[in-house]
Formats: sequence, C-alpha cells, structure tokens
Amino acid sequence: MSVEDFMRRVVEKNPGEVEFHQAVRDVVSSVMPIVQSTPRYYEAKILERLVEPERVLIFRVPWEDDGGQIHINRGIRVEMNSAIGPYKGGLRFHPTVYVGLLKFLAFEQVFKNSLTTLPMGGAKGGSDFNPKGKSNREVMRFCQSFMTELFRYIGPDTDVPAGDIGVGVREIGYLFGQYKRLKNEFTGVITGKGLNWGGSLIRPEATGYGAVYFAAEMLATRKESFKGKTVTVSGSGNVAQYTAEKVNELGGKVITLSDSDGTVLDMNGIDSEKLTWLMNLKNIRRGRISEYAEHFDGAEFLEGHRPWEVPCDVAFPSATHNEISAEDARALVKNGCFCVSEGANMPTTPEGVEVFLAAGILYGPGKAANAGGVAVSGLEMSQNALHINWPREEVDRRLREIMASIHTACVRHGKDGDFTNYVKGANIAGFIKVADAMIDQGLV
Ligand code: NDP
Repeated sequence: MSVEDFMRRVVEKNPGEVEFHQAVRDVVSSVMPIVQSTPRYYEAKILERLVEPERVLIFRVPWEDDGGQIHINRGIRVEMNSAIGPYKGGLRFHPTVYVGLLKFLAFEQVFKNSLTTLPMGGAKGGSDFNPKGKSNREVMRFCQSFMTELFRYIGPDTDVPAGDIGVGVREIGYLFGQYKRLKNEFTGVITGKGLNWGGSLIRPEATGYGAVYFAAEMLATRKESFKGKTVTVSGSGNVAQYTAEKVNELGGKVITLSDSDGTVLDMNGIDSEKLTWLMNLKNIRRGRISEYAEHFDGAEFLEGHRPWEVPCDVAFPSATHNEISAEDARALVKNGCFCVSEGANMPTTPEGVEVFLAAGILYGPGKAANAGGVAVSGLEMSQNALHINWPREEVDRRLREIMASIHTACVRHGKDGDFTNYVKGANIAGFIKVADAMIDQGLV
C-alpha cells in the first residue's frame, strides 16, 4: 500500500483531526518501506493497529469558580499503545485541546517512549480548561473534579500521566492529592511530583536539558559545541526555561524567549541572573514575557512576532505545535541557523521540515530531541517503585546517557552518506521496537 492510500483511510476515519493526520503521515512516510518489505509487519496490519487508539476516554468536568459560577469542561485521555509498557504521557490544559490534538500527541508519544529505551507505552490527555487568569483555588477545584473521573482509569502499572502545556507542579500537586484521597494509596501514579512528595530531581529540568544534550550530540557530529553560539528559544514555560539554563551553562548565548503575545529579544544575552528573574515572573507571579523588556535595559519586545526572523546558530522551538512555518524555516536557514532541536512537540510544519532537510542542517525532531522529559519521568517511576531517591548527578548522568543513545539510534537508522536524516532515524528506531512487541503479544 502507498503512503497516500494509507493516509486516505486515516483521514476518512478520523475526519477533521488535522494534527493527527500530520503526525501519522510523518511516521508512515518513514516506515512504509520497511513495512512493505517485511511480511510479518504488513500481514499483522501493524500500521493499521498503530493508528487506532487502544482506548479514548471522554468525560465531563464540572467546577465552580470563585464567584459561584458553574463551568463545564471536557476531560480526555487517549490511551494509544501499551505494547512496551503502561500508558505514559502528559496532560495538557489549554483551550485548543480536543480529541484530535491529543491523538497526535499520544501517537508521537508511542515512538518517543520507545526511543528512551524505558518500558513505557504511549498516551496523552488533558482538557480545554484554561488555567491562565484563574485563581489557585479555581485551578485546585478544576483539578480535583478532573481527577475524580480520571482516577478510575489510571494507576502506577496501568497509565501514568504527567505535565504538559498548562500543567506544571501546581496542577500535578492538586491532581495527585485528589488521586491519593480517592484511592487511599500513595503510589507513583503521576510523574513531575514535588521533590518532597515522590518527585525526582532533574524532572523539571529534563525536557529542556535533554533537548540541549541532543543538540550537543548533533553539533559534535560536525565537531562543534555550544561555545560562543547564538541561540534562539521560543516559549517561556518549563521547556524553554531549562533549555536556556543549560545553553548558558554550556557557553552559548540565548537571545530570545517568547509567549503567545510575542518575542523578547535581548542581544546582551539572557544570562542566569535574568533567567532567575524570568522564572519568578512566569512560575510565581504568572506574568507575561513583555514585562522582561520593561525590566531589562537593551531588551526589546517584538509584539506578535515569533523568534525565527532573528539570526542565530541554533534554534530551540519550545512553545507549541506548528510554530515554524516554511517561511520561518527559510528565514532561519538564510540567517545562518544550522541546528534545530525541538523541545516542543511537532513545532515545525511538514513544509518547514522539508526546508530543513533540503538545506542539510542538523534537525532533531521533537520525538527524539524532547524525549528527556518522559525519560526522567520513567526514572521517577523507577525510584517510586524502589522507594528510593537518586541524587541529582545520578539522574542527570542517566538523562545524558539516554539522550546520547537516542542520538545513536537516530544515526543508525537515518544515516544517508554524510547526512543524517534524524526524522527518518527516530521514526524507524521508535517503530521497530513497538511493532515487534505487538507481534510477540498476538492480535490484541
Ligand atoms: P508550558 O505551559 O510550561 O509553557 C508553554 C509555553 O509555550 C508558554 O510560553 C506559552 O505561552 C507558549 N505557548 C503555548 N501555546 C502557545 C500557542 N498556541 N502559541 C504561542 N505560544 C504558545 O509548557 P511546556 O514548556 O511544558 O511545553 C512546551 C512544549 O514542549 C509543548 O509542545 C509540549 O508538548 C512540549 N513538551 C513538554 C514536555 C514537558 O516535560 N513539559 C515534554 C516533552 C514535550 P502563553 O503563556 O502565552 O500560552
């Protein structure tokens, strides 16, 4: 079957779910030659099974705001694939959340989790609830209501959620507290927990640090490092903050951060002192990135702009999906960017990916480059199961090793002469392990 025939069926069966179609096409384009030439894959209809979630749960989430008004949101959990371990993947609270978006994220998660070498299946969940502008008590009431339904379907050996956009340690705390109350069990049912209640050191840092470690591996293939490199980062949330921190540590200069209102450009560099101020602004005061430009001399706020028109050596898209269009990708390449490491999930449109691949730059797709977050979530699960805490250095060492092994797997399956196609490499390496496990377990 051709990719086009396969995609026609996927689109017919999942109408309107454009992000899901995009994510499936990306993987299927890479793995179709292998499926076609491997009877055990096509006879077992592995691809057809992979694009059908094992289960999708949809539930009502009623909650009351501080003024006594009642609100109804929709809760969703997509349990995509459990061939290599319990379902694992984050929860997103954002007004754009719908089933198709979570199916794309859960699908990506299957291959990403496979790449980490840890035993984790793929899932994703969330709600169209918007935590922005809500009081802490409103967020708590929402999280409690959300978990009052979700708790029936998750468990440390069944499905282990974590954070994502709009779900940080505050939300994880409220969700975990309600689960514990309902089940009367203190278990590793969620990752990203606070340090003094079962969390792992380095988990908050893991996605950002991991994306930088992955970029460092890519740079090393060209005998380059972060020393003296100019770096642009989008977003200003969890992933963006720790990406900037690690780039600074490795000798690079971060000159942008952003949010959905615009980009802050600081040619003097967003150093560790400025980053500490920014973390306080975003995580405690829950302010906007424009305030950075008001606070620091020499910084400017580019309202309504993304960072991609700013010349740089390395770029880290770390905000959201489809934030780099073909035009953005062309601007990046034209201005000298030769390495892109995706902290966000699917931040580059398919046309943008084509531009990067045609230009032959080092391009690390999200399912490889941002796998550090879920990898350390996996390490948090191990620590919870063993009832121990590993020191910071130990977790960081394991994270670095995992990112290096993902890089090696991508090169093994994506090398084409002197060029490594990391998209192809990540898709094939992630696919083989899951497909083989599905075959071993029979038709389920
Ligand atoms: P946060 O909620 O901490 O931060 C998200 C950031 O992205 C904010 O600055 C936000 O700005 C911006 N953003 C979100 N949606 C949009 C949008 N539609 N347009 C423009 N900007 C937007 O989330 P994370 O940092 O955790 O996640 C960022 C990305 O990384 C996501 O793609 C996520 O799936 C991915 N990821 C996260 C992992 C993790 O461990 N947290 C693991 C792997 C991937 P604003 O405040 O204006 O909305």
